[in-house]
Amino acid sequence: MSRPRFFVVAILSSTLVAALLSSRAHAQATDSTPPAQAANASVPPDWVNPFPPHRVMGNLYYVGSEGLASYLITTPQGNILVNSSLEQSVPLIQASIENLGFKFSDTKILLISHAHWDHCAGSAKIKAMTHAKYMVLDADVPVIESGGKKDFRYGNDPSTSYPPAKVDRVLHDGDEVKLGNVVLIAHKTAGHTKGCTTWTMKVTDDKSGKTYDVVIVGSPNVNPGYKLVNNAEYPQIAQDYEHAFAVWKTLPCDLFLGAHGAYYDMAAKYPKLNNGGENPFLDPAGYKAYIADRESAFQEELKKQQPPTGK
Ligand SMILES: [Zn+2]
Repeated sequence: MSRPRFFVVAILSSTLVAALLSSRAHAQATDSTPPAQAANASVPPDWVNPFPPHRVMGNLYYVGSEGLASYLITTPQGNILVNSSLEQSVPLIQASIENLGFKFSDTKILLISHAHWDHCAGSAKIKAMTHAKYMVLDADVPVIESGGKKDFRYGNDPSTSYPPAKVDRVLHDGDEVKLGNVVLIAHKTAGHTKGCTTWTMKVTDDKSGKTYDVVIVGSPNVNPGYKLVNNAEYPQIAQDYEHAFAVWKTLPCDLFLGAHGAYYDMAAKYPKLNNGGENPFLDPAGYKAYIADRESAFQEELKKQQPPTGK
């Protein structure tokens, strides 16, 4: 029994470190997709640091690392996993799932937030291990199936590539992914990638019996080097971001989650999870503030890149 104990100590100390970081401040940096091969040295430590797996609410669980979010949604017919993260994340995700008392082999459906390697590089491995059906939003499919080579920004950078994975079902904006009693809806919130996906679902709190709207934000961030104007690889990028912000502003949100824990201040909220108060992940105001903050960052960057109008 000493090994699980050690694991708990290790993850708790990493939580402490996480709590000391200003998570909102590094929300932008965590999306920056540093080169993969320049080795693990260039992988931000929080991406690989373990984090205590936890029940967010009802049948929705956090099984990611400190910096890269993965979620498990359980149903009587098997489970749905959102985000395979790095290749090296797979053992951690598996351990988190098992630590919560579920079977990794019960993963029937694999989804992602968007086709960047920090959210999808582990997909080929997870498909091979679990035979899960991989479902990806249409415009991200060529990127996934080319192992990142068709990405509009990083396609020419072999250091950001990953094992290609076959997509089993191509999703379109508004499509439902159903398993057992669970329905997830894919919302196209593109710009960050062409098929960047925000997932919504409903979850019921066992304690109160109340049902809540969940939003898992795909990514609202403009990465370094993104051309928002005259982008030959992605001409409609700015319009896509604008559309995405319009979508985020209309989605009902009680339970605020995202592709990186930093989006929703996970490290600060997690310690409040079982203290008897309200579930800390219920944060509609935090969701609205986050989207507003990211929209103004996008608008500012767009203004910077646009040629001056008039004389
Ligand atoms: Zn990304």
